[in-house]
Amino acid sequence: MPRLVVVSNRVADPRKTAAGGLAVALADVLNNTGGLWFGWSGKIVEPSAGGRADEGELRTQQAGPVKLVTLDLSREDHDAYYVGYSNGVLWPVFHYRLDLADFDAGYIAGYRRVNQLFARKLQPLLRDDDIIWVHDYHLIPLAAELRALGCTQRIGFFLHIPLPPPLILAAIPGHDWLIRALFAYDLVGFQSEADHGHFCRYIEAEARAQNLGEGRWRAFNRTIQAGAFPIGMDVEEFNALASAPDGLEMYERMRREYSRRKLLVGVDRLDYSKGLPQRLQAFRELLQRYPETHNSATLVQIASPSREDVGAYTDILHELESLCGSINGNYGELEWMPVRYIHRTVARSRLPGLYRASRVALVTPLRDGMNLVAKEFVASQDPQDPGVLVLSRFAGAAEQLKEALLVNPYDVEATANAIHLALQMPVEERRARHQALMANIREYDVHWWCDSFLDSLVKAQAEETGTPWL
Ligand code: ADP
Repeated sequence: MPRLVVVSNRVADPRKTAAGGLAVALADVLNNTGGLWFGWSGKIVEPSAGGRADEGELRTQQAGPVKLVTLDLSREDHDAYYVGYSNGVLWPVFHYRLDLADFDAGYIAGYRRVNQLFARKLQPLLRDDDIIWVHDYHLIPLAAELRALGCTQRIGFFLHIPLPPPLILAAIPGHDWLIRALFAYDLVGFQSEADHGHFCRYIEAEARAQNLGEGRWRAFNRTIQAGAFPIGMDVEEFNALASAPDGLEMYERMRREYSRRKLLVGVDRLDYSKGLPQRLQAFRELLQRYPETHNSATLVQIASPSREDVGAYTDILHELESLCGSINGNYGELEWMPVRYIHRTVARSRLPGLYRASRVALVTPLRDGMNLVAKEFVASQDPQDPGVLVLSRFAGAAEQLKEALLVNPYDVEATANAIHLALQMPVEERRARHQALMANIREYDVHWWCDSFLDSLVKAQAEETGTPWL
């Protein structure tokens, strides 16, 4: 069996767990197959007096069946590649937020430099029959850089975040370069059919790509395969967590504390794409419209700190703090606070217990590639007395989880009504919806995602390799 080489911006020890859909899913895949995981160490080396930083030195660590190889980045490269281009241009634009993008011309040079550095350092470690799987928006040009160094291996790319419609994508200076670089892969995967459709429309209109049928496209002298591979969760891992002491204790504690009140839960990274202010506005609207919810419903919102070095993230933090304060100030009573807002990461082992003790989950991003919290909430429920998922129609998960209460998170009043419906929903309807959702989550789990992507990658017909790409 060929070796699997995974490349992503950050590498995490697959024996441990971290917040973030990508880290959780990849840890699972590599624990099963073994292989090599290559990426940035997370460390920044400051320049020595007068000179450039000594970046790119490789560190290797064996983690069970997985070899982890990491490199450090210089401050200059980190700021341009990671903070600048990846999170200041690609993240906002791919989440439809042109207003938040910072198109500084220096960022793209740093982005390209770091992709070249990754390619230079990775290429000598590769074997001829390796299967290479590159992840996410930080590394779009990596295959092109590897091909320029003579790599002919099968290379696949999976985009974990949304791909916006062609005209939004076309606002990025250098968008044609970026999309052309995707043609150096053999397989390009997206989270949803909607994102896949945007890609097809873009390459037809902007690159005059030829549609060969069955997901195959030809342009720039290459034939590639493209498709939707919605990422799933590890249902067994989550079940095991739910029945472990930490999970059980959390469940019992929350049930005891909320025995007289219904618990609503939100669990997110603190990111402007997650629709947190709109969610709190909808909760405020619920309290305003339905006085019977006073004293009987509590929203626990966990928002873990994220990318605090990017300006737009501090703005959203302040907005959220102010909304929580004003809701509690206006509606709270001595014995009841409507919102419990926690700006910290909660241990993964405690999440299933928290989800299971909650009657309603609010997963209402303005735009999200998939959103694994939605799936984790459903998987944690008691099938006899399950909670209700209120899900944004703009999350990739909405294509699969059709039995959730789907909402438009920009419509605060409609979302408040949906939350009210969720709180009132009779147990028979909750059970029927939960059963249907669970069937989908089980069928399209993380193993399905990984197997179907890798199967397609092995089958993808690479007709040309080694073309000088960039
Ligand atoms: P993203 O990748 O944008 O953060 P996802 O919902 O797809 O969004 O993945 C988030 C993953 O990280 C889930 O597995 C979730 O359980 C975990 N997670 C998210 N927020 C928190 C938090 N505040 N505390 C603990 N775990 C979290």
